Amino acid sequence: MKDYIRRFFIAGIMALCVSLLFLGGKHSKAAEPKISELTEHWVWPADGVITDTYGTRSGQHKGIDIAGDSGSPVYAADAGIVSRSYYSQTYGNVIFIKHNNQTETVYAHLNKRLSAQGEIVSLGQKIGLMGSTGDSSGVHLHFEIHAQAWTPDKINAVDPSVAFGMGEVGQAVNAAARTENAREVSARPSNFNSGQITNDSGETYHIVKTGETVWTIAAHYNLQPGDIASLNNINPDRILTGQKLLIKPGNFSEYTVKQGDTLTSIAKMHDTTAEAIKELNNANSDVIKIGQILIIHKK
Ligand SMILES: [Zn+2]
Repeated sequence: MKDYIRRFFIAGIMALCVSLLFLGGKHSKAAEPKISELTEHWVWPADGVITDTYGTRSGQHKGIDIAGDSGSPVYAADAGIVSRSYYSQTYGNVIFIKHNNQTETVYAHLNKRLSAQGEIVSLGQKIGLMGSTGDSSGVHLHFEIHAQAWTPDKINAVDPSVAFGMGEVGQAVNAAARTENAREVSARPSNFNSGQITNDSGETYHIVKTGETVWTIAAHYNLQPGDIASLNNINPDRILTGQKLLIKPGNFSEYTVKQGDTLTSIAKMHDTTAEAIKELNNANSDVIKIGQILIIHKK
């Protein structure tokens, strides 16, 4: 009889362990989307040059600064509802927008606010004009992204350069440059069949559909899975539906001007001419700035 009870207990403990394992597995939380995925379709909120980045000023700077022309447009990075539009002693004329994916963005030091609290704004909509109001020492947009609602301690702030995939001091940013991407993402028809997109620069992209893997996509384009993984710097086992993958690089590349460069040296490096680079970049003079991004036509 004792033996029977012991066996009963052992069986019971084993059953408990198995059910705990099962419950543990069932309740393991799905990975939260990364900020770069939530903001994939966003546009830069202004045209200009990045003059300060996230985390500077002893970690107190919870946004990114974009310097541009006084009175130039400030755009909603994504569609949403204006949660606040007011004058603050520090932010100056400021607009807050709450987006559908729970993120909230802040546009500060505006010369003029063009959207009122409660207004529904679309992606890329002009919501204000760049200025230097509030605690600001020059014309610029101070832009913040919060993964959840803005709080006074800015605990939910995230680095906009992570969201946008770029954003170093001296880099030129342009709202329209991301608009094409934004248009593709927001205008994806529900019967989006091929998933293939080719833009004006000759780049081909593929938007991942449900059930696709890097292997099936590679086979479709006569590529190896490793080609797609290295082109996009991704783990081929981890792609998401809706993700935009580069399939074929375009005929243009970007070059960031470095110390000691001249237009001629850059041209030589790329087997092109200074005149061709100037024309492509709408430049009238030979003056280039360190950090400036030049579009170069590939031979
Ligand atoms: Zn700032």
